[in-house]
Formats: sequence, structure tokens, C-alpha cells
Amino acid sequence: MAQLSLHGIKKRFRETAVLHGIDLEIGDREFVVFVGPSGCGKSTLLRLIAGLDPITDGEFFLNGQRMNDVAPSKRGIAMVFQSYALYPHMDVYENMAFGARLMGLSKDEVEARIAEAARMLRLEPLLQRKPRELSGGQRQRVAIGRALVRKPAVFLLDEPLSNLDAALRSEVRLEIARLHRQIGGTMIYVTHDQVEAMTLADKIVVMNAGRIEQVGSPRELYETPANTFVASFIGSPR
Ligand code: ADP
Ligand code: MG
Repeated sequence: MAQLSLHGIKKRFRETAVLHGIDLEIGDREFVVFVGPSGCGKSTLLRLIAGLDPITDGEFFLNGQRMNDVAPSKRGIAMVFQSYALYPHMDVYENMAFGARLMGLSKDEVEARIAEAARMLRLEPLLQRKPRELSGGQRQRVAIGRALVRKPAVFLLDEPLSNLDAALRSEVRLEIARLHRQIGGTMIYVTHDQVEAMTLADKIVVMNAGRIEQVGSPRELYETPANTFVASFIGSPR
């Protein structure tokens, strides 16, 4: 069963149409990467899936359940943003505990989940530190850890590496790939970096101006791009 189904998703801000009808099936445990030029609607689509913005038209299902009007905290979906958005006055432990407490988990359960997430992301030595005492890569690992403790079925990652320098970018990228193999959740990942897309994705979705141009494996897009836009974006010879 496809885990996530988007049917004719449209988004309009006042008179500006941003998404013109997105149809997409995303399978359980799939790593799906969205690419496309700045302003094409990638972040908007993720915000709709997370429930941070209302869908103008169309329907969105998760495991067969219609999600359009389900509250964000009830969707089983966690989002990691480009800028880490950690609380500066809380240490790493408290940052990770915050969202889990909002879910109404017991203190013991929160503690157990943080221990597990910290182990997976190698954050144990950093739990008592404040965000300002961390490197950019460490901060982004904390942001991912904070999402992880909620045990979401779906992770949304919106350009999670774009504020990191090249060395940290490959470090955190490998961490994300490892995490996906370990937890087996569905990941939806936005980037404008072709290397990230080609190395992480089971499936790449190429977007342009609020529409999907093509969906396929990295190899399919590279070898048989649907049009010159996809070819130029993926960097294939066509
Ligand atoms: P991307 O993430 O692909 O760079 P976005 O989804 O952020 O693109 O934005 C797509 C378009 O929607 C842009 O033209 C942007 O200006 C517009 N947009 C995004 N959010 C809002 C908003 N809250 N109000 C009005 N326009 C918005
Ligand atoms: Mg964006």
C-alpha cells in the first residue's frame, strides 16, 4: 500500500496560485527527494503535508486516512527545517524533550526515546550543552534528533544541509542515510543539490513552477529525462 497519496493538491496564497495540482504516491519506507528551482513550491508542499498551512484544493491521505483536516501533532509527521530552530535557552536534552512532552508521553518514555535518538545520532556527549555551544552540523543533528523522538511515520526534511559547510554537509548527509536504513521511516527530502538527490533518493520528484515535471529513480531521470528541463536539472547529457 502506498503510504502517502497526494491527489490534485493545489495551494493559493490570496490571488497567487503556487501549486497547480500535485498527484503523487509515496511508498512505505521510501526516500523521496524533491528538487526544483527556488520558488517552485517545494517548501509549500512540505508545509501542507505537515499541516502547517491549509490545503486549498485536493486531498492528502496517509495510510488510507484523509489528513486534510487532521491537526499537525496528530499526523505522525515530523519536519526538520533548513535553519535548526532550536530553543537557545534550553540545552540539547530539553530541546529534544519539548516536542515529546507535547505529545503527552510520560517522563520515563521521553527519557528512553531521547536516549535512543542520542545514541543513533551520536549526541550523548552533547546532551547538556546549549545550542550556542554546538557546531552547525551538531545543531542540525539535534534538530533531526528532536524529530526522531516523536517517532514519526514520515520525516520531512527541507534543505536540512544548506546552512552547513561542505565537510559537515557530507557528514550529516551520511547520518541521514544511516538513520533512514535504521528506522525505516518514510523520508521526504528537499534539496537543490544534485549530489544529495542522486545519492540519497530512491525516487526523485522534479518540480517546476508548482507542477511535477517527472518522477523516477535517479537512474531513470538521468538516462531518460522527460524533457530538457529535467535533463538540465539532473545534469544528464540530453
Ligand atoms: P521553494 O521552497 O521551492 O523555493 P516555496 O514553496 O517557498 O518555494 O515558495 C513558492 C512560492 O510561493 C514563491 O513564489 C513564494 O513567494 C510563495 N509563497 C510561499 N509562502 C507564501 C506565503 N505565506 N504567502 C505568499 N506567498 C508565499
Ligand atoms: Mg524552500
